[in-house]
Amino acid sequence: MAPKRALVVGSGLGALASAAMLERAGWQVVVRAQEYAALAFDDALGIWSPALAALRAWLGASRCDALASAGRFVGAVDGYHDGRGRQLCGPATDLGEGTGERPALLFLPRSALLRELRGACGAGVRFDARAGSGVTAAELRSELEGSWHMIVGADGSDSTVRSTLVPRGAVPTALGFHVYRGVATAPLAAGADASEPLLPRGRSFQAWSTSATRFAAVPTTSPACAAHAPPLDAAAWFATSRGPPPAAGDVRAAVRALAAAHFAPYAAALVDATQDAHLAPPIAARAHSPGLLRGAHGRIARAAPGGAGGGGGGGDGSDGAAVALVGDAAWTLDPILAQGGGVAIEDAAELAACTAAWAPAHGAGALDAALRAYEAARRPRLRALAAISLLPDALGQMAGLPASLRDGLLAALPRTLSSAAFEVAMHASLAPAPLAGRWRYDPPQPPPRGAPAGR
Ligand SMILES: Cc1cc2nc3c(=O)[nH]c(=O)nc-3n(C[C@H](O)[C@H](O)[C@H](O)COP(=O)(O)OP(=O)(O)OC[C@H]3O[C@@H](n4cnc5c(N)ncnc54)[C@H](O)[C@@H]3O)c2cc1C
Repeated sequence: MAPKRALVVGSGLGALASAAMLERAGWQVVVRAQEYAALAFDDALGIWSPALAALRAWLGASRCDALASAGRFVGAVDGYHDGRGRQLCGPATDLGEGTGERPALLFLPRSALLRELRGACGAGVRFDARAGSGVTAAELRSELEGSWHMIVGADGSDSTVRSTLVPRGAVPTALGFHVYRGVATAPLAAGADASEPLLPRGRSFQAWSTSATRFAAVPTTSPACAAHAPPLDAAAWFATSRGPPPAAGDVRAAVRALAAAHFAPYAAALVDATQDAHLAPPIAARAHSPGLLRGAHGRIARAAPGGAGGGGGGGDGSDGAAVALVGDAAWTLDPILAQGGGVAIEDAAELAACTAAWAPAHGAGALDAALRAYEAARRPRLRALAAISLLPDALGQMAGLPASLRDGLLAALPRTLSSAAFEVAMHASLAPAPLAGRWRYDPPQPPPRGAPAGR
């Protein structure tokens, strides 16, 4: 039987998860990456239960256990606070550790996740790294002359695969604020967290100031903390501010000034406890809006000999390649949701499940149908996430009198009501459809060994 061949473009979470899971779905995979140099900034990523479930289903319990021991499960999400630390809504929502009924959130270094995903790729995956700017549009077009049945674009928000091969693919738009982030790996200044002892209890918190800025922190792990005795907790943090990022300059001074001016002392202390190597340059936040979520798959015709246009239709994929987008290339999410990386993993699992039963003998039309099923399966969840991110952005980035009103109104709400609303929103962000009343996302299952079964 002819092998089914996929070209995966990218080297992030989406690309490596796609390679590992497509291999398990019977594909021969080549990963063409921009480069495999060390990450410019090894940020801490929060991976929620749906992606953890997809990893467990496809890559096995032992890989998941290795990930869990490389990271830290967050004990609780503490709702929203004002700049001075007063809780505005939602008491702590307790989280689980990935196995029970509670949703779970694992925070770990991005490098640890990438390493585990790469280690999960077997002999059916070949890595072909390109130095410099990565695969170009011209190279992609010429790849069509290769014998790929499917090209997977996992090349991030500015996807070259999307712009070259998926004409209907939508591009993300600016959200109107920028994001600073860092990982604090040194001890906090004495007393800095006296009024906010949230991190030692393993909780995540987010504060909204009255000046269109937000600050959040969450416990995580970092190799840099291992040297401390007793071992230190690392804390990943982010801050947002309105407008485009400032021009090149002193990032530390800018974010420290913002933290000190608008938040309780723990914020500036976390910035101070962040070494330069763990402080990222600010980025302009971008996302697809719910209305722009379209075009995560397509088909690109191969030029016929003599240049007469596409397609022979030989039933073996010779009439072109199917194109699937995963992760940020398909649907960039608001970074404050902390779900884009998890979504890339879920996408990979769904793509593998939808194409597992396909064989070249079934023809190009059947592969297109599988990709339509992939897009249809993912769209409700992505719509829900894009919609859910609108409210915290609108409320969190307020300034002046409206923000004071916001704080007053939220603080005046009965706590049971605001905590119920917070719980509903959080659970809806983990479910396949909004307000589905359950947190669980049923991960697409791998086919049983030796008997691939698609969905
Ligand atoms: C501030 C911030 C905080 C975040 N926090 C979280 C979080 O806590 N949890 C979470 O789940 N998500 C989080 N995210 C989102 C997450 O980082 C992304 O959604 C995730 O990285 C998407 O993975 P990806 O593989 O689709 O794209 P990327 O990670 O962008 O990877 C794309 C890869 O493709 C490569 N590439 C690009 N162009 C080419 C080309 N032409 N040829 C070859 N290779 C190419 C790039 O080098 C890169 O390696 C956050 C994002 C931001 C900005």
